Amino acid sequence: MKKQSINVKNKLGTSGKDSDKYFRPESKEELKKILEDYTDELTVIAGGTDLLVANYKNLYKIEKWLDLNWLDSFKEIKIFDDKVEIGSMVTHERLDKLDQIKEHFPVIQKAAADVGSPQIRSRGTIGGNIVTSSPAGDLLPTLLVYDAKLKIISKDGERIVDANDFFTGPKQNVLGDGELVEKIILPLEENKSKGAWVKVGKRKALVISSISLALNLVFDNDNKIKDARICVGSAAPVPLRIEKAEQSLKNKKIKKVNIAEIAQIVSDEISPIDDIRGTAEYRRKVAYNITKSALQEVINQ
Ligand SMILES: Cc1cc2nc3c(=O)[nH]c(=O)nc-3n(C[C@H](O)[C@H](O)[C@H](O)COP(=O)(O)OP(=O)(O)OC[C@H]3O[C@@H](n4cnc5c(N)ncnc54)[C@H](O)[C@@H]3O)c2cc1C
Repeated sequence: MKKQSINVKNKLGTSGKDSDKYFRPESKEELKKILEDYTDELTVIAGGTDLLVANYKNLYKIEKWLDLNWLDSFKEIKIFDDKVEIGSMVTHERLDKLDQIKEHFPVIQKAAADVGSPQIRSRGTIGGNIVTSSPAGDLLPTLLVYDAKLKIISKDGERIVDANDFFTGPKQNVLGDGELVEKIILPLEENKSKGAWVKVGKRKALVISSISLALNLVFDNDNKIKDARICVGSAAPVPLRIEKAEQSLKNKKIKKVNIAEIAQIVSDEISPIDDIRGTAEYRRKVAYNITKSALQEVINQ
């Protein structure tokens, strides 16, 4: 068979860089210009692990692509005295491997390590996970237990949204046309905190969660629980904070906590549905068990 020579001109032409359908800004200035010119027409692509699967029969219908992969500023992780900022293009693999995430936000690190497979973790981003807004998105409950805020940008400026207010339904959120998630802002807690992450699925790897639970407890100087956050995934249309259980945990020493009572509250408060990954009744029972094991894990730490 005749060997094809590489036509460099053609390769450049098809790289997309110069196409009027495909934009890959390399700076925030370039991004701003593209947003000003085409704001309502753009489909954002990050790692593509959700977008390409959801649209694989209809990719030709996408009018204009906005590829965030060349924006280095969206891939930065910045550590300040009182907060950590994670760019929306940070992959699950980096969240899993970085010591700073493991040290300050171990629940996020564990959830990132549980996403998909090595291939998915090396492409899939925290921003993509957030914007897909699946009730089964693994990072979503972990963001809520750390009080994350999202910096959203558009041609009109920027706004900060509490992660707790971002998700409005299954695969729905408050993002408007032409709005991008630029970064995730996580406050750094002065007091000692301990957390746990439990994901339950039909098998051990490459699995969408049937139910998940993120827990973060902050302790005061007397080792009493100063602040508690419990958030359950895949058990309601949005990641669900269990505030009643959080209140019951406050001002107690962890060893005095009635674990079964907290587990019962979580099981009662969720509003799961029957679907292919499990019935509502199954999810309530599992919610009870995973709350117990998450609290036990914190006690053992
Ligand atoms: C085989 C397989 C296994 C998977 N396993 C898991 C799993 O275990 N747990 C889990 O939670 N998920 C899983 N996923 C889903 C997916 O990998 C994750 O949700 C991933 O984080 C998506 O990120 P992405 O960068 O690939 O997003 P993309 O697919 O590029 O984008 C997803 C959506 O977000 C939008 N978007 C992306 N970034 C931004 C931004 N910064 N601003 C505005 N909009 C944006 C896109 O337009 C698109 O609508 C799996 C997917 C596959 C294919």
